[in-house]
Amino acid sequence: MLNGACIVTDQPVEGIPEKLVQVTEPGKMVQEAIELRGIKVKLAPVNIPVAYGPAFEGEVVRRPDTYTEAGGASKTLAFELLRVRPEDEVQDGRIEVIGPDVDAMPEGGKTPIAILVDVYGKRMSEDFEGVLERRIHLFVNYAEGAWHTGQRNILWIRLSKPAVAAGLRFKHFGDILITKLKEEFGNIVSRVQVTIVTDENEVRKRLPEALEVYAQRDARVAGLTDESVDTLYVCTLCSSFAPDHICIITPERLGLCGAVNWLDAKAAEEIDPNGPNRGILKGECLDETKGQWRGINEAVFEGTHHKIERFNAYTMMEDPMTSCGCFEVIVAMTADAQAVIAVNREYAGMTPIGMKFSSLAGSVGGGRQTPGFIGIGRKYITSRKFISADGGFLRIAWMPRELKEAMRDALQKRAEELGEPDFVDKIADETVTTDAEGLMEWMVKVDHPALRMPPLLS
Ligand code: SF4
Ligand code: ZN
Repeated sequence: MLNGACIVTDQPVEGIPEKLVQVTEPGKMVQEAIELRGIKVKLAPVNIPVAYGPAFEGEVVRRPDTYTEAGGASKTLAFELLRVRPEDEVQDGRIEVIGPDVDAMPEGGKTPIAILVDVYGKRMSEDFEGVLERRIHLFVNYAEGAWHTGQRNILWIRLSKPAVAAGLRFKHFGDILITKLKEEFGNIVSRVQVTIVTDENEVRKRLPEALEVYAQRDARVAGLTDESVDTLYVCTLCSSFAPDHICIITPERLGLCGAVNWLDAKAAEEIDPNGPNRGILKGECLDETKGQWRGINEAVFEGTHHKIERFNAYTMMEDPMTSCGCFEVIVAMTADAQAVIAVNREYAGMTPIGMKFSSLAGSVGGGRQTPGFIGIGRKYITSRKFISADGGFLRIAWMPRELKEAMRDALQKRAEELGEPDFVDKIADETVTTDAEGLMEWMVKVDHPALRMPPLLS
């Protein structure tokens, strides 16, 4: 103690916090000592029956190659939640599977899933939960034959037939997450335990807690406006598979994956100043309406390897923000340039612009600027800054029913803010029409406000 070392003893002592600590259970002494000294343990490579590494991140598991899937288009309940828990509730390295693992599931089927990660660390705080939770996406994708897209409760996971044949199980998500979270976030996390739930009742039982946590996280950022901050954040987490893409995250426009808001990005920079999130001073405002700043343009130019010179945050028609491929929703202009549609990833059907989500995704992704099309996080739809330079929220003429219903409360609130309380029912969906003429007839019939706006293309 005299030379600054700390002492962990099983003897009854009057402890000194962080210096002289009594631990009665011998099995817990080493863990305590490691945490006291802030030692970051370097772990062995992820030990699972398939190859593991960034090379597999962009790998897609297609439907015919899928052994089992959860969430997304399979429509089973699926969510992931990472929480900080008290020290005595996290047993480092513990993996529990509640319900059948994939070897007890039929080939070609689907399953509900909850991925629950509990962490503890002396420096870990609730503000960091969202940051660590977002990495689940990356870490699971690194496994050959495992595919993970979406986040929170709109996950979509697939395990491929060859991977399952090679021995990959859902329990291995536990090995992956425990190893990688401690490797990447060893400075704040010292204990990680993972519970994978595939039992439907149990998944259902645990969902409300997750929804509550997501809502609290969103509420924290809800009070912030773009004007009230001088710093925006870049996110380059997706640059490994879309090298020329960067996300610019503002308080009122979250990352297009829906998983990184302005506060998350801020927390991420605090955790790791050399990580994928970096604060950028907005600098001189070049266009207030379109949302363009000199400092951001410079960061975009750098971040896109000099391919893109400027970004506008509030218009999709001129120098729009780019996309990697993780967008929750694609917003696209209609052929008559009078309105926009917003399509979520889970919707597999046709849209009134003659393209399905999959073909839209092909033209929007990859870090290209495609005026008339943007990839966004769902929450941006109800932001005050949603394509505000293009007429905003009231431009929306069509959305898949599922997206509209899932967001109904937030959509209604935004419509009322804009003095159009009947607006949500003026948004058509696939039960009304899936073609351009049908949409135009509908807009005329309901007297859609976008008809009174100037066309998007002049
Ligand atoms: Fe970051 Fe954007 Fe990728 Fe989300 S989509 S992880 S915000 S780069
Ligand atoms: Zn991405």
